[in-house]
Amino acid sequence: MIWSRVIEQERPVAALRRAVAGGRVAHAYLFHGPRGTGKRAAALAFAQALQCPHASDDDGDGRPCDECDACRKVRRLVHPDVHVLFPHPWSKEKDRDEHDLAERIQRLGENPYAAVDYVRRPSLEDPSETSNKQVLYRTGQVEQDLLRPMSLTRGEGRYKMALITEADRMNEKAANAFLKLLEEPPPRTVFVLTTARPSRLLPTITSRCQRLRFDPLPADAIAEALARRRDLPDERARMLARMADGSYGRALELLESDELMEHRRLVLDYFRQAYNQDPVKLASLTEDMRRLGREHVKELLGLMLRWVRDLLLVRTLGPEEAPLVNVDQAEAAKQFAQNLPQADLEAMTDLIEEARALVGRNVHLGLLLTALAQALGRAMQGRSARLYVPLPEAGLPHAA
Ligand SMILES: [Zn+2]
Repeated sequence: MIWSRVIEQERPVAALRRAVAGGRVAHAYLFHGPRGTGKRAAALAFAQALQCPHASDDDGDGRPCDECDACRKVRRLVHPDVHVLFPHPWSKEKDRDEHDLAERIQRLGENPYAAVDYVRRPSLEDPSETSNKQVLYRTGQVEQDLLRPMSLTRGEGRYKMALITEADRMNEKAANAFLKLLEEPPPRTVFVLTTARPSRLLPTITSRCQRLRFDPLPADAIAEALARRRDLPDERARMLARMADGSYGRALELLESDELMEHRRLVLDYFRQAYNQDPVKLASLTEDMRRLGREHVKELLGLMLRWVRDLLLVRTLGPEEAPLVNVDQAEAAKQFAQNLPQADLEAMTDLIEEARALVGRNVHLGLLLTALAQALGRAMQGRSARLYVPLPEAGLPHAA
């Protein structure tokens, strides 16, 4: 994460670069400002600058080289002395899904503006899913992910650094446990707290932090970043930027919800073609889906699962009572349920789940989608169906 990946925010960025270059790094920083304005992006660039030996060279200006081992590890967020924390929705720490957490951190490394937190993105696979669970830092998590690693001696890094995102979501007990560490920080430790609601933090915590404010971004800067980073036509980029209220993160969400509508249309079409089994239409549709790439295909399969669950609800509770996820598609769900009373919805669920597990391996996506459509077609007719697993993609090792 080099500084150029932070959109605008010249003032806080300059302050952080000066601190690194001059070796005058504070123990704790509070980055505050509306969400989507680059607090995490700046924190990750700061993490890289702290760990890169070249950023504080004699002629260093706080700029990480982006080539050394430390830079590479921070960029991928696998540096042993850089810890990234999100508040969690689970009541018991052991319930958490380490694989899901690792994927969130990986996505954050790829795009620090992406919605990867549990508040706005309870499910990585299905961006339309919402959650009413309370998302908090609880004492157990703070002990396990923050106090313990930050109290250990430094590994290979020049600093130990913890990025505590949405720090206002600490419960009081957890905040007090953190405060003890903050009051007597081990040498060369740096805490970066981010929040859009600084007034909700304990004053005893904020008073120990150097505060840096992140202002809403100008629409032009958002439009320019969208055009350059997401390869959007200027006009569309400008439109999204105007709706984003100074938040690049919000602009990305708007872009994603556009994609969500498009994905839903593809899913409905796919079910239709799976039933009709018109080989030409099916081939062109699976080709469209395949071109979206592995991650998007995984999302599409997630949407298919939700669809089938909705159908189950319509079938058991009736179209009026069913609490559908795809509320905007209630009519289509009703019709599907009426027209296909014989469809084996449980078998459809199993088939889609099986296909989703295969997407993570190196199977050929086009073949997988074709095989799934054939199997789903049989299940929709109430016939027995199994998924014929296609061969791995040529040239790639089989990861099974
Ligand atoms: Zn470096």
